[in-house]
Amino acid sequence: MVLDKVNKWFGALHVLRDVDLQVALGERVVVCGPSGSGKSTMIRCINRLETHQEGKILVDGIELSDDLRSLDAIRREVGMVFQSFNLFPHLTILENCTLAPIWVRKMPKKDAEELAMEYLTRVRIPEQAKKYPGQLSGGQQQRVAIARALCMKPKIMLFDEPTSALDPEMIKEVLDTMVMLAGTGMTMIVVTHEMGFARQVADRVVFMDRGEVVEVGTPEQVFNDPKTDRLKMFLSQIL
Ligand code: ADP
Ligand code: MG
Repeated sequence: MVLDKVNKWFGALHVLRDVDLQVALGERVVVCGPSGSGKSTMIRCINRLETHQEGKILVDGIELSDDLRSLDAIRREVGMVFQSFNLFPHLTILENCTLAPIWVRKMPKKDAEELAMEYLTRVRIPEQAKKYPGQLSGGQQQRVAIARALCMKPKIMLFDEPTSALDPEMIKEVLDTMVMLAGTGMTMIVVTHEMGFARQVADRVVFMDRGEVVEVGTPEQVFNDPKTDRLKMFLSQIL
């Protein structure tokens, strides 16, 4: 996954400024930075939920464009988990997980259900399969969202503050699920301020501020030895 001098504006607002980032297969990158610094916008551009105006984004060697082949490839290869779960409330947990494999991957229903049960087991909630999202806790819903994304067999998983809408007692179960996923060798880009998670699984931490990548390094480098005043200020506020 490569971002090469990516620029994006919302009207006159310049939200991504010459963003360069390369993420190798199997690598785990944590992105942090103040609110409004462009973290979500960057993640959403990688998944083509937003479009960038300048620069290049390549996912698995395919350059993102409006080309249908490119869009289709991205939908298959990039899984995304949002802050607010975004499960379909009128579908059961199992149906949430089988929808895209059946309609996008054209998988037979029975195979899709088997696959979904496999991933629901992996996130440790197979017994919830017949329930609706509203009957589950926030932590359980977020684990379903992770299982649902995995059912598409993505090559890369994007997480945008996956625990920030959760009550404290549910944060750990979701972070544990993400640590488990990291253990499988999944390529992951995770926007989070959970330092413990970053230290445990991140190969690199990216600090963004005002649309720019300001510092990149190992968790030790970024958290223990910040170079810029901007990062020092940010760390003093979240620690
Ligand atoms: P972060 O995720 O780091 O908090 P965002 O990527 O959400 O930051 O936002 C970056 C900037 O872009 C902010 O100033 C935000 O207000 C603005 N922004 C985000 N989405 C939109 C949008 N759809 N339309 C206009 N401005 C937006
Ligand atoms: Mg955000």
